[in-house]
Amino acid sequence: MTSSMPVRTALVVEDERTINDALAQRLRAEGYTVEQAFDGPSAVEVAAAVRPDVVLLDVMLPGFDGLEVCRRIQAERPVPVLMLTARDDEADVLVGLGVGADDYLTKPFSMREVVARVAALLRRVERAEALAAERPAALEVGAISIDPGTRRTTVAGEPVHLTPTEFDLLLCLAREAGQVLGRDRLLREVWDWGDAWGSPGAARTVDSHVKALRAKVGAERIRTVHGVGYSLEDLT
Ligand code: CA
Repeated sequence: MTSSMPVRTALVVEDERTINDALAQRLRAEGYTVEQAFDGPSAVEVAAAVRPDVVLLDVMLPGFDGLEVCRRIQAERPVPVLMLTARDDEADVLVGLGVGADDYLTKPFSMREVVARVAALLRRVERAEALAAERPAALEVGAISIDPGTRRTTVAGEPVHLTPTEFDLLLCLAREAGQVLGRDRLLREVWDWGDAWGSPGAARTVDSHVKALRAKVGAERIRTVHGVGYSLEDLT
């Protein structure tokens, strides 16, 4: 981190104390302020009190689970969430995405991977804020209207609520509407994954988010080109 950057606050939510402590310790070493929570209800309380810049969230928690925590903290204010899942299981992933998680890691993960993902999430938020400050013009692709400044989306005039990742994905596809964008490129541009293409779950990350986005903007608007990637179609 450069000296001009504000100190970022990370909230680590994980009931296994050794994992929680290891995450907290590593993030502190990277310059973050870290808050810890060990169950669902206290995670929501701490999030409301400290307004973290990023949340690392285990799925299986006492009280109520990580999905419910995600739902509640996202309802209050958008914050990037990195979900920590025990199984590399698509159902987990999809349900997680439906509640507004931005990314996920399957256990066991390396601390290095966690740090890289958290940094990527924060870069995305900063990029989005910088873009919003420029007040760019809205993009129209068929019936879809995307305003990068306000981060609002409408389909046929009706507002659609997208998670931050879904919005970034739609914006990326819309900038080159009608063109097929490969998953590797989407991972680089939307997730800022750099060289992570080929890592476990990389393709599924893209596919899961596309699936969630389709459910919100209309499945027919996002065309799959098997083995290649996706394109946003200009449909009314
Ligand atoms: Ca757990």
